[in-house]
Amino acid sequence: AHVLRIQLLAWPKSNAVDHFGKDAVALRIRPLSSKEVKENVSAAIKIAGKKSLVVTDFSDAQDPLRQDRPREKLYEFDAVYPETASQVQVFEGTTKTLVDYVLQGFNTTVFAYGYLSTAWRVKELNLTRFYNTSSATGAGKTYTMQGTPENPGIMPQTLDHLFQQIKKASRIQTSHGNANPQQNATSATSQSYKVTLSYLEIYNENIRDLLSGRPDYLELWEDRLRGNVVSGIERVEAKTAADVLDWLEKGNLNRTQEATGANEASSRSHAVLQVFVVKRTCNKKGQYTEQNGKLSMIDLAGSERAADTKNRGMRMIEGASINRSLLALGNCINALSDDSGGGKYVNYRDSKLTRLLKDSLGGNCKTVMIANISPVALNFEETLNTLKYASRTRAIKNKVCQHAPVLLPKHSSISKTGSNSSKSTLSS
Ligand code: ADP
Ligand code: MG
Repeated sequence: AHVLRIQLLAWPKSNAVDHFGKDAVALRIRPLSSKEVKENVSAAIKIAGKKSLVVTDFSDAQDPLRQDRPREKLYEFDAVYPETASQVQVFEGTTKTLVDYVLQGFNTTVFAYGYLSTAWRVKELNLTRFYNTSSATGAGKTYTMQGTPENPGIMPQTLDHLFQQIKKASRIQTSHGNANPQQNATSATSQSYKVTLSYLEIYNENIRDLLSGRPDYLELWEDRLRGNVVSGIERVEAKTAADVLDWLEKGNLNRTQEATGANEASSRSHAVLQVFVVKRTCNKKGQYTEQNGKLSMIDLAGSERAADTKNRGMRMIEGASINRSLLALGNCINALSDDSGGGKYVNYRDSKLTRLLKDSLGGNCKTVMIANISPVALNFEETLNTLKYASRTRAIKNKVCQHAPVLLPKHSSISKTGSNSSKSTLSS
């Protein structure tokens, strides 16, 4: 069996992504569920860490030739969130600053990336003896993006913050007006914001409107002025974060359900929430200018191992389109983050997702990818794939340092040691 050990270096209190760099990749490890704990699901050993983690693969432990050298790899990210990290910490560290950019008229994007829930694989590989299928759950993408009513995720927290900032901006304006009526009379400009949103799903390379719930597929048009637009999609106005939650809830009911099991519902489609913010600045003559910002928040479809895509029929089609769009997305981010000025060719056309996000990746846009992993040993291969994908997405930006992945020296084996030795290994 696979044994996965993940260890992290001392986790700092403030773990915010550094947005001076254009794009950022954060990693989040979800905790074991109470069910998993009860069922004694074997978990990785985790030690709180900073911006990197070490993964030890003991999968060759049965192989006498390799027993002495469990493979250890160091992966680095812009931020690493251990299972104890709260929804608020993850939001504040990854997404909060994006709201300011959107209010200034930039386009920004947040993705949650992670593998597909493995419930069906447990069944297929006949592992039910070891794993209760109902507890073999996902990596935490939906929890990270949407969360629960008690622990709201990125989407509700972002909207909440957005409306707070808008309120603050109008309050400053009002108090300024009261305090300085003279100045107000001569140079007054007034600002107003309008927030609208759309919520769509991309399933097997088809776009469906989750707000209208219409079953037909929508086309993506390249509009010279407005960028890529989904024709006929519903756009609703939101005045409060509560409005947004209502729309999200309504939209989620319209997501594609999987026929083969409730556990898998909706995990094979990308859910894209787009928030459009129009800031209108009016002068006293009634002339105005408008600034448009857009924030896209995406619960990506679960990634799959290539080995698993030998599925037949619908599964195969689904797997192929998921992998295709995730690959295209990774390629785009990777190419766009290339600061070397090489002018790498960016092929948006490879998938609906990248076409849709064409004006929200690269350029002046800020992009954050939150890669989600689970500590469950069964998910070892998936976790490793996620780490590889996420660090490859980040790789070009870090060309100069080129840290990840690095094979650690043999003596750093953590199989019989605690946190101390690994600390010294990594700081060297
Ligand atoms: P995915 O969307 O990647 O398939 P989910 O977000 O549905 O995975 O997470 C799987 C399960 O684990 C859900 O029951 C979810 O509530 C729970 N979970 C995920 N991340 C966390 C977390 N950080 N804290 C508590 N529970 C979590
Ligand atoms: Mg999900």
